Formats: sequence, structure tokens, C-alpha cells
Amino acid sequence: MKNRLFLSSPTIHGEEQVFVKEAFDTNWVAPLGKNVNEFEKELAAYLGIGHAAALTSGTAALHLAVKLAGVKPGDKVFCSDLTFSATVNPVSYEGAKQVFIDSERDTWNMDPAALEKAFEKYPDCKCVVLVHLYGTPAKLDEIRAICAAHDAVLIEDAAESLSATYKGQQTGTFGRYNAVSFNGNKIITSSGGGMLLCHEESAAAKARFWATQSREPFPWYQHEELGYNYRMSNIVAGIGRGQLLHLEEHRSLKERIYHTYEKGFAGLPVKMNPYLDCSRPNFWLSCITIDPACAVTPEQIRLALEAENMEARPLWKPMHMQPVFADRDFVAVEGGDGVGGDLFARGLCLPSDIKMTEEEQAEVIRVVRGLF
Ligand SMILES: *Cc1c(COP(=O)(O)O)cnc(C)c1O
Repeated sequence: MKNRLFLSSPTIHGEEQVFVKEAFDTNWVAPLGKNVNEFEKELAAYLGIGHAAALTSGTAALHLAVKLAGVKPGDKVFCSDLTFSATVNPVSYEGAKQVFIDSERDTWNMDPAALEKAFEKYPDCKCVVLVHLYGTPAKLDEIRAICAAHDAVLIEDAAESLSATYKGQQTGTFGRYNAVSFNGNKIITSSGGGMLLCHEESAAAKARFWATQSREPFPWYQHEELGYNYRMSNIVAGIGRGQLLHLEEHRSLKERIYHTYEKGFAGLPVKMNPYLDCSRPNFWLSCITIDPACAVTPEQIRLALEAENMEARPLWKPMHMQPVFADRDFVAVEGGDGVGGDLFARGLCLPSDIKMTEEEQAEVIRVVRGLF
């Protein structure tokens, strides 16, 4: 059996163990400790944002971002439709309701025209959750301008886009509150974890307070607000610090994989996931869409790759098509299931693991080409 080729799996180096060993040697294995503080500072400095709070997951970061944005039960929150469910679930944790906003075709992210339309329908909405799918920055200028015009808080879900930039600025720094993830499949991993990124110290402090059970400064355990156990451990942060040293290297390997696919598929009726010239994606996953006139289906390609022990996966299934969100509104410019539904029907994520060799990637390309 050939080695399995993954969509994206952890790539560990060596520095991770140095930071973890230091945590053991100093007996700081609990949440809090030097690695947590340093990881927050190092990531904030890398991104160019004021403050970071290290948490147990990207989902926890999104949850606290939604709380910081002041979302209340019964509120409407505009959310990217074509995404992983973790982008939008925290809205429900706070008792609010998502309104799903369709994608555009230039980046596959939230369509500014659909967002405008949603504000016409729900002028009181005060919060927008925007994802940068597969590491490709969204149309940030347009979306930020619309949010500002409607006095709505922008939350960026940069879980997949760490190290991607838009007009030279890092994703995860444009929103008022932003989230990144260090889950095992992301561009760097801490084995699991995430961070909330923000511009005000008071917001980071509040997130850390909620994340440690909302303990008030009393000798006894005093709670005046609902708390959570969301803080990152010092061991996990040590792995993250070691990985952060390799983020740029991971990004350039991902970029090479993308362009190798692009060249390898020349002449086929397929397109790579697109991006804007003013942005620099992190190329977390390389994806294709098959041209509408072509009879080959993504599922045929997925099964042909699976037969060779190569992992491929359909694009994220749009949130408005998920049974759990059947009663939510969906705002689109096109009819039917919108651009997101069309991309889902024609798209596939390909092996994008940075440990994949050039020979292995040539095999993936050969299998795909064999179907056309
Ligand atoms: C992975 C991911 C998350 C969640 O991050 P976790 O650390 O796994 O909780 C959120 N949004 C998107 C788009 C993701 O891909």
C-alpha cells in the first residue's frame, strides 16, 4: 500500500520539543505560563495586531469574539455561507440566529453585493462573521466599508488563512475581533488550539477572564458572569511557538503545491480556487472546480484518488443547505442555492500536504488527468 496522501496533516520540526521541554522542566504544564504569554506576543507581533488571547480552539476564539461583539439572544448575525460549521456555530451558542450570505466567484468568500442586500432586509443587524476560505482573503475593502456604513462589528474567521495577506496586511487583523486556529489540519498546529486577536487590551483581558471561568479577584471563588474553560495550556502553546517559526516555510510549500497543480491541469476543463491580485493567499488547500459543461463529477475524481490512497474532499457544504440550519435565511444575488451551492456541486479539495513529494503530486495529477 502506498503512503496515504493527506489533504493537510501536521508537519512537526524540532523546536516544538524544546519549548515543551522547558515547560516540563519548570513544572509549568498548567494553563498559563511562559509559553502561553510568549505565544500570544509572538503571534500578535507576526500579524501586526495589538493583542492576542490564546485559547483551547479556534471555535472558542470565535465564540468569545461573538460575545465581545455584544451579540444577544434573538439577534441576527450575517455569516459566510460557504464555510466550515465552526465559523457560524458560536452565533447559536449565544442564542442569536445566522443569516447566511452567499459567496462571489472571485475568491469564493462573502459577496459584498449579497451583504448589501442583507442589510436592506435586516437593517438592524450589528455583526458580520467573515471567513477567508481555504486561505484566500475575501474582498475586505468592500466588506469593511459596508460594515462601517451600517455600524456593524466585523469578525474575521482567519482559521484557514493564517499568514495570508490582503494589500500587504495580514488576515485576522481587519476585523474588530478575529480568530485563528491551530488545529491539526491547519497551516501550523499546536495539536489543537486557537487565538482571539483584537486591537484593544480591554477586549483581550475580557476574553481571558471569560476563558478562565470568569473568576472575580476575590480570595474565594466569586462569579458575577458566566464563565468558560477555554484557556490554552502551556504545553500546547510550546508546540505552537515551535510551529510559528516555520509558518512562512509552510506557506511557501503550500504555494508551490498550488502552482504545480495549476500547471499540471493546463488544458483540462477545471479551474483552481481563485484569488485577487491584491492578495497573497496562504494556499492552505488547493481546490478545483470542474467546468459546468464537463460531464466528469468531483465524486468520480475523489473516488479515483481514494483508490490510490490519496485523500480528496468535497468543498464545504454551504451552511444554508445544512439540516441543522434549515430555518435560517439565505441571502444571495443568484437564485437557487447560489454561488456557494454551485461551487459545492462542482468543486473538490486536493491533497495539499506539505510533506507530499513532487513525485507524489505528479501521481495525483496523473490520476486526475486520467479521468478527462
Ligand atoms: C478549523 C476551522 C475553525 C475551527 O477551528 P478549531 O480550532 O478546530 O476549533 C473555524 N473556522 C474554519 C473556517 C475552520 O477551518
